Amino acid sequence: MSALTSLTLKAALDGLKSKAFSSVEITQAHIDAVAAARPLNAFVLETPEKALEMAAASDARLAAGSAGPLEGAPLGIKDLFCTEGVRATACSKILGDFNPQYESTVTANLFGDGAVMLGKLNMDEFAMGSSNETSAFGPVINPWKVKGGNQSLTPGGSSGGSATAVAADICLGATATDTGGSIRQPAAFTGTVGIKPTYGRCSRWGVVAFASSLDQAGPIAKTVEDAAILLTSMAGHDAKDSTSLDVETPDFASFVGKSVKGLRIGVPKEYRIDGMPAEIETLWEQGIAWLKEAGCEIVDVSLPHTKYALPAYYIVAPAEASSNLARYDGMRYGLRAEGANLTEIYENTRAQGFGAEVKRRILIGTYVLSAGYYDAYYLKAQRVRRRIADDFDQAWETCDALLTPTAPSAAFALGERMADPIAMYLNDVFTVTTNLAGLPSISVPAGLDANGLPLGLQLIGRALDEGTVFSLSGALEKAAGFRARAEKWW
Ligand code: GLN
Repeated sequence: MSALTSLTLKAALDGLKSKAFSSVEITQAHIDAVAAARPLNAFVLETPEKALEMAAASDARLAAGSAGPLEGAPLGIKDLFCTEGVRATACSKILGDFNPQYESTVTANLFGDGAVMLGKLNMDEFAMGSSNETSAFGPVINPWKVKGGNQSLTPGGSSGGSATAVAADICLGATATDTGGSIRQPAAFTGTVGIKPTYGRCSRWGVVAFASSLDQAGPIAKTVEDAAILLTSMAGHDAKDSTSLDVETPDFASFVGKSVKGLRIGVPKEYRIDGMPAEIETLWEQGIAWLKEAGCEIVDVSLPHTKYALPAYYIVAPAEASSNLARYDGMRYGLRAEGANLTEIYENTRAQGFGAEVKRRILIGTYVLSAGYYDAYYLKAQRVRRRIADDFDQAWETCDALLTPTAPSAAFALGERMADPIAMYLNDVFTVTTNLAGLPSISVPAGLDANGLPLGLQLIGRALDEGTVFSLSGALEKAAGFRARAEKWW
């Protein structure tokens, strides 16, 4: 495809500003790239007419000198975001052809800053999954393949469409969401950058709810700087979300490239888990060495409750999901199945509309919230959650950020883990902790494994300290010099 699709978001914005090309030109190049990449199944809805309309309006604003910070840049939008007048399904059959009457705050912020929408991106159903295989639209295929192999790999999940679209150069950046790792793990599996900001940075208004106390929106991008530019636009206080934080949004891009000299980096010993490939361990050591060379001080820290994070997450998240998903009853949105009476309509709609993984979550969630089990499971998980947050607070006494691997494996083959939900859940072991504690965390591509697949390193920061996270990830990105791209086969 044309050179316009291989630009970073930053380079594209510079080119648009200097009138090296128009928004219609770069948007058309991406529309063509999206159409050519259909074998990846990254988009579940392409909106080329809307994209060209938005691009023409951007060109007019660029000409008039009233351009916004993202003016004219074509992006992909995860199908969990409500987009006014454009179908939003959360990749579930139960939402059918749901056509939102309103725009989510995050997408409204992006479009208000001049971004152009190419369409809606594939994802796990209701964002429940780690491989994008629970989508009602079928799996997304990772653009990366094992060196010399041809097997289809997962791009990770739940934001598999977002990560794939960015890695395959069919959009300049994408929105994503992260409840337990859904931005960071797909970023790691595709050689892209993904940040989950502090809980409350981005408004959840208009984002289909999965587990409300854990859900956060964030970008997946080609570079750390691009991620910073996108997050600056997406974030901000919103009175329509009661958990939105009333704080200023800094210019996150201004932190990228800043010196990291003197920053203290914690290395949590509990993240050295059994069965993790030696290559990931080696890359982690390499990351530590890179940050040391950049002037950071390395300290050993302990997060003793880490081993309880995954079990606690898989109680809290399904509990909240079972409650959030009670609204899909066949009356208000999308699918409505036949039934002799109201109860039967509810039952049939939910039986037909939800996929297997979503049903599993609803069953687990309903169980752990039921009378007699609430204290033993839900309440206990909440207590563990507090302990995990306390562990991080303790760590911040001796360090400014933490460095860990993003995931315990590289991208795995489609179908490999679908039969075993526990094996699938285990992939979230390094990411769920920061959702439970509400902390910002980013995945940066840091190297390739022996099979030629990308691996990511995760940086975790203090609440609201995305600035330090961006400075450190910028330093890591520079040291890693990761430039590998998936070889085009689609
Ligand atoms: N893989 C995790 C889950 O299935 C996280 C998903 C997410 O972050 N949305 O719940």
